[in-house]
Amino acid sequence: MLLATRCPVCDVAGPAPCAGCVAAMRRAPLLPPPPGVDRCLALLAYAGAGRELVARLKYRNARAGVRWLAGAMAALVDEPVDLVTWVPTTPARRRQRGFDQAELVARRIAAHLRVPCRSVLRRGPGPTQTGAGAAARRAATPSLGARRAVAGTVVLVDDVVTTGATLSAAARCVRDAGARRVVALVAARTPPPGDLH
Ligand SMILES: [Zn+2]
Repeated sequence: MLLATRCPVCDVAGPAPCAGCVAAMRRAPLLPPPPGVDRCLALLAYAGAGRELVARLKYRNARAGVRWLAGAMAALVDEPVDLVTWVPTTPARRRQRGFDQAELVARRIAAHLRVPCRSVLRRGPGPTQTGAGAAARRAATPSLGARRAVAGTVVLVDDVVTTGATLSAAARCVRDAGARRVVALVAARTPPPGDLH
């Protein structure tokens, strides 16, 4: 191994994530796709080890898990697709972090699927979901728009889906830009309320 890696969940040296943490991750709950999304493929439940992996990628600039995450997400896609894109984070967050985690994952997924990855959506400085209360989240409509025309089946990558409002808004823009079918591909889905595992 040329580059030493550590598990982004438990910080043990070795594969990122380690086998023990992978075994502890739960699959995403099966829920209907948000309105406007033809199909929603979700890898992990946003809880426990899965939550740690995705949250650290997002907040602590720990990108060691990106390779694994992208490979596992790409493996969920079992239909022909034409293009991969992502739900962009707000300009302020991108500046603050220095990268867009959804773009990082999307680019690797596109490489796995052997299709182009393009920046399709732009996001204005509208409300973000992080830190907002549940009511604010429900009310928040991100200011999203399309920057290019697309065609065929488009894979729309995002990190975490909670209410699905952002994915819905993004899917609508991608469809307005010309997509025939929008397949959302998300790293993690929050368990429905009442799921205590
Ligand atoms: Zn681990």
